[in-house]
Amino acid sequence: MALDLEQRFARVPLAFFPSPLHRLERLSRELGVEIWAKRDDVSSGLAFGGNKVRKLEWLAADALAQGCDTLVSIGNIQSNHTRQVAAVAAVLGLKCRLVQEEWTKWEDPAYGQVGNILLSRIMGAEIVLEGAGYSTAVKETWERALEEVRRGGGKPYAIPAGASDHPLGGLGYAHFADELARQEAALGVFFDTVITASCTGSTQAGLVVGFAAQDRPRRLIGIDTAADAAMTRAAVTKIARATADLVGLGHPIRDEDIVIDPRFCGPDYGLPDATTIAAIRLAAQFEGMLTDPVYEGKSMAGLIAMARAGEFARDSRVLYVHLGGAPALNAYHRAFA
Ligand code: PLP
Repeated sequence: MALDLEQRFARVPLAFFPSPLHRLERLSRELGVEIWAKRDDVSSGLAFGGNKVRKLEWLAADALAQGCDTLVSIGNIQSNHTRQVAAVAAVLGLKCRLVQEEWTKWEDPAYGQVGNILLSRIMGAEIVLEGAGYSTAVKETWERALEEVRRGGGKPYAIPAGASDHPLGGLGYAHFADELARQEAALGVFFDTVITASCTGSTQAGLVVGFAAQDRPRRLIGIDTAADAAMTRAAVTKIARATADLVGLGHPIRDEDIVIDPRFCGPDYGLPDATTIAAIRLAAQFEGMLTDPVYEGKSMAGLIAMARAGEFARDSRVLYVHLGGAPALNAYHRAFA
């Protein structure tokens, strides 16, 4: 069953969908399993794109319908999400206020100057540097930023970290599942195993719901990047169940539908380990495909390790969901020294 979300929910097109789907030939030969990538990292003209553009298509429609004039969001200093919020605000002619917190202790003098935060500044977002520590809890700093917009006579639209814990946060990746099924039908292929990075949760949650609506079951593995698999699982579960209700899935999301692999998160959120860096190099040197030390390098590390350990059946067709993130690479130049 297709969810037909476009017929039922408002959406502002912000990307070039369907995102490209292609086989990773050299990586497949190297790992002995057939691996493809679906490239949400290159599916939008908005400031290098990424998974938040897909989610924000639905939230932006809501913001415009409510007559809001300022997008307000929160993330890490090198957040890809806040960079994409800044781009969406720019293209829609809205203002943008971003609370940028220190979620990670990556020691580099350029960390707060280059990569995502630089791009957000160039796009005209107002940046408030305050707060620390990643958590899915609602932050007082974010509430304050919303209040300041109101006090200044503006009408803010609140977008939580990762555009995740929001009534519409799961729609983007539920829609991705329908898009993938159409591409599979056109190409005559089926991905029995899907690997995604997971952090604030609505990417995996949307996929869980979208795949649950389809006839053929798949194995969906979320690679935890928050370095707190219990928190990631709680976030994915909450958003998946809310999204299932919203779209009228018609059957419950079970605990076992949500698979979070804790093995590849590195020492902490935002900190790579040697496996992350090796995975980034392998994807870059075999496919010219760039991944980052915070998210996609970790999901790539998971894919590589699972393939080498024989955790995929020989005849599996594995899909790597590429969610963006490469704009953070400059802030991590030391990791490649
Ligand atoms: N990959 C990239 C590049 C991201 O920016 C994010 C954002 O957090 C994720 C993966 C994880 O997605 P989510 O936060 O929806 O779990």
